[in-house]
Amino acid sequence: MSKAQSTKKSPLRGTPTKSAARKRIEQLRRLIEHHNYQYYVLDSPELSDAEYDRLVRELRELEARFPDLVTPDSPTQRVGAPPLETFAPVRHRQPMLSLANAFDEDELLAWVRRVQSALGDQRVEYVCELKIDGAAVSLTYEGGAFVRGATRGDGFQGEDVTANLKTIKSLPLRLRGARPPAFLEVRGEVYLPASAFEAINRERAASGEPLFANPRNAAAGSLRQLDPKVTAARPLDLFIYGVGAADGIDVRTHDETLAWLKSTSFPSNPHTTLCRTVDEVMTYVREWTVRRTDLPYETDGVVIKINSLVQQAELGATSQAPRWAIASKFPAEQAVTRVTDILVYVGRTGALTPVAELEPVRVSGVTVTSATLHNEDEIRRKDVRIGDWVVVQRAGEVIPEVVRVLTDRRTGQERTFSMPTACPSCGSATYRPEGEAVARCTNLACPAQVLGRLIHFCSRDAMNIDRVGPKLLEQLLQRKLIADPADVYRLALEQLAALDRMGDTSAYNVLESIAASKRTTLPRFLYALGIRHVGAHVGEVLAGHFGTLDRLMQASFEDVRDVPGVGPTIAESITQFTAQPENRRLIERLLEAGVRPSAPAPARSSGPLAGKQIVFTGTLSKFPRSRAEALARDHGAMISSIVSKKTDLLVAGGDPGSKLLRAQKLGVRVLTEREFAKMIGAET
Ligand code: NAD
Repeated sequence: MSKAQSTKKSPLRGTPTKSAARKRIEQLRRLIEHHNYQYYVLDSPELSDAEYDRLVRELRELEARFPDLVTPDSPTQRVGAPPLETFAPVRHRQPMLSLANAFDEDELLAWVRRVQSALGDQRVEYVCELKIDGAAVSLTYEGGAFVRGATRGDGFQGEDVTANLKTIKSLPLRLRGARPPAFLEVRGEVYLPASAFEAINRERAASGEPLFANPRNAAAGSLRQLDPKVTAARPLDLFIYGVGAADGIDVRTHDETLAWLKSTSFPSNPHTTLCRTVDEVMTYVREWTVRRTDLPYETDGVVIKINSLVQQAELGATSQAPRWAIASKFPAEQAVTRVTDILVYVGRTGALTPVAELEPVRVSGVTVTSATLHNEDEIRRKDVRIGDWVVVQRAGEVIPEVVRVLTDRRTGQERTFSMPTACPSCGSATYRPEGEAVARCTNLACPAQVLGRLIHFCSRDAMNIDRVGPKLLEQLLQRKLIADPADVYRLALEQLAALDRMGDTSAYNVLESIAASKRTTLPRFLYALGIRHVGAHVGEVLAGHFGTLDRLMQASFEDVRDVPGVGPTIAESITQFTAQPENRRLIERLLEAGVRPSAPAPARSSGPLAGKQIVFTGTLSKFPRSRAEALARDHGAMISSIVSKKTDLLVAGGDPGSKLLRAQKLGVRVLTEREFAKMIGAET
């Protein structure tokens, strides 16, 4: 199915005839099935949620008008998508349904009226919860022990992802309490904190892998990995918000259920609120529509649930969703602006990325001045022209993108864009391999590629040469003082001191940071080399397996392919890299210059941090947060992002916020940054 069809406006105007409606219904069903597959199975949506929701809404409206055209296989009658065959199937004892949506206050009030009229004059209480934008899971406990975890799948049958779920530190493997229920199945949402999502996408961009569209797809994709090690490297977290089935728990309300879940050691969202009136519900929804951007994870709405379990049972469910709950969706964070130009950037792998330059506009609290257009096909599909008015959004709060063009605002002055056939940086020919969407510059010595590779080499997660940033590298390249990463280690004080805005002291500091980077770890070094598909995680897997650079350099394609979590694509890319004489020469020169990549030391099993769960909060002044976490990990600690009863230590920097309050409430030991540094022997 072509993507172009998906954004078509409804061809039906006014009251459609039955045969026109039938045709459109069929078209919509095909489209929705296609996008469901992209979204639920491949974790790779092609449409924004708002665009997808519009299609579903149109289908629902047509089916409501022509009920005899509703068929049991219509996407409006089903939840999610069938599970992937690669995982063992799990049948849910109780179906895992979806939620009905309210897209504005009127729709929310209409639901309240429906509930109240169904319950007669009974008093109704509501529980308001944040709708966490992650992947739904069901966790089963027998005799208090975690035995199985599954995805939602099509609502009846999900995928067994137990091994992957066990990598989530906040998931209790055993329940607290003397007499746990013989059988318990709870439901919740696995999510990826926003910062982790950004880091994963940065890493994927660096290793040339496609980016996740949003944290939800990243969480779902991480949970459905065949290798639990990949999942373990993604800091997934969990909120539990309900019970699916249980033998012997004594609760009467949803509120009591949540309190019981919490006491049994399940992680629960701290912002859940019991509301006694509809006004309180509205206030909660309005408040979180604004406050949601302050949260360290993504939410796409508020879920409002009827509190009494008896009333819930009385209201029941449709085949798709319970009638006792509704999701009040937040408006998509979009804005309208104009495309002033389309520029093409060349990345370190030679990939040409067209970027729309925009008139500055605020979207979810950030001023956006440019948006990615991904590639030529995307520009054609969306028909974006220079001068167009467009809708932009921050996908998953990170990468701004152009959603669609407001074609009715066109004046005829707009200019179409075509991808250059010559590289905008060096003028060499570009090529687009068959079956790929991305065009690339063919010249390995292209200055934009060389600069991109150098920036990557020096970056924080690679060699971490913090004083050598993009501006300095650009100057060094222009003055022909360096041409590749090994040259960085041959720079002399006088060469640096002679550069613009650089005195002796700064030049000295630059040399210090270059020298300090020589003692590095093998995973960092492998990542720094910029081998395609080798991100920080793959670097760690390879270093863990081969132990030394030498052994990796000698490894055959089969040796690398057979490393768990690697596979043929990465293996091919690595062996191609190591086979190139100029790459081997570069590595030799780096080693000659004194770079010493060592296998990471195994995490300590003794010392003050060994086995401790530790949380960092606030602004650290001594080290960057990632460095502090890495040091703690090296000392055997486990890092978590939430403060719970299981937390052993909270390291609080400046402006610590709610985590500190929570730690104090729970009696968790709090350390200053200085105390932490002292504990690991890093105090200066
Ligand atoms: P949903 O995500 O809108 O709502 C149901 C889910 O909400 C539950 O399964 C549960 O996992 C989750 N949830 C989070 N917090 C919760 C809480 N506190 N209490 C209860 N549930 C909570 O429904 P869905 O059926 O999973 O997906 C439909 C949505 O997915 C649509 O709104 C659509 O925007 C999006 N979608 C997009 C595309 C696309 O191509 N962009 C395709 C398919 C679906």
